[in-house]
Amino acid sequence: MKRILVTGGAGFLGSHLCERFLGEGHEVLCMDNLVTGDLANVEALMPHERFHFIHQDVTEFIHVSGDLDAILHFASPASPIDYLELPIQTLKVGSLGTHKALGLAKAKGARFLLASTSECYGDPLVHPQSEDYWGNVNPVGPRGVYDEAKRFAEAMTMAYQRFHGVQTRIVRIFNTYGPRMRLNDGRALPAFMSQALRGEDVTVFGDGSQTRSFCYVDDLIEGITRLLWSDEPLPTNIGNPSEITILEFAQRVVELTGSASKIIHKPLPQDDPKVRQPDVTKARRVLGWEPTVELADGLERTLAYFQGRVAEGA
Ligand code: UDP
Repeated sequence: MKRILVTGGAGFLGSHLCERFLGEGHEVLCMDNLVTGDLANVEALMPHERFHFIHQDVTEFIHVSGDLDAILHFASPASPIDYLELPIQTLKVGSLGTHKALGLAKAKGARFLLASTSECYGDPLVHPQSEDYWGNVNPVGPRGVYDEAKRFAEAMTMAYQRFHGVQTRIVRIFNTYGPRMRLNDGRALPAFMSQALRGEDVTVFGDGSQTRSFCYVDDLIEGITRLLWSDEPLPTNIGNPSEITILEFAQRVVELTGSASKIIHKPLPQDDPKVRQPDVTKARRVLGWEPTVELADGLERTLAYFQGRVAEGA
């Protein structure tokens, strides 16, 4: 049994990680300040004796008693709407929060995994994106608060690895979807699914020709778990390489829900990446990992969750 801390543990991905580690028999400490996280995501885990919730902001000094084997740093606003509304918190959790979490890993002799992002590649000029591409990021645009915080976090993580000898791992997470995404976080999937289920217009930004590649959450969690216990010290992409235009994605969601919703177009947000697709050659080679859940199957599984939330009036 290992003792594992997940920062941002009450968020979308954090809660799936907590659940996975508990299921494997580990003790899990879930830390969250609940700014974008939600206790409802970990409600089912609360009664478990190996699960502990710590209500704390990771940008402040973190005190955790006892040993720790691993820290996964997932605390951060992570959707464009969230980091536009919380620009300073986003910068702080990526910089100060990463520093604090790394300091704790060093003090405890724990392995550290940073949740980084495909946003490190910005609006990419290389397609698909492999880990050796340095990216095309606008530091002073609206997305800069997230992109640069994560790039700083990667640099800080590498410094703790090289200077302090901390065992660190960096996952660059591409677009991921599944149950426990917040309905109103502004991302494409929650927006499209909740709009379609309520019979509202489905809002495609721009002409919808921009592309993304959507990974089902269970595949992502499997890749992250493999990376955590691997020996790979450099950033590793985890995502599903199957690429789709946002317009087609919206159409697929509307069809699946059987909704009569119309697709309408709204202005494209500034610096919205035109294309995005992970090159997962490295994850295949180093981790023996690849995604297994097809979009149709993943969307079905996600729909059940959104139907429940919309029916509750969320
Ligand atoms: N998008 C959209 N309508 C929405 C929300 C998002 O057309 O209501 C588009 C957005 O402009 C982007 C893509 O969907 O091109 C994916 O957006 P998301 O916020 O999910 O993630 P991103 O990959 O941009 O971080």
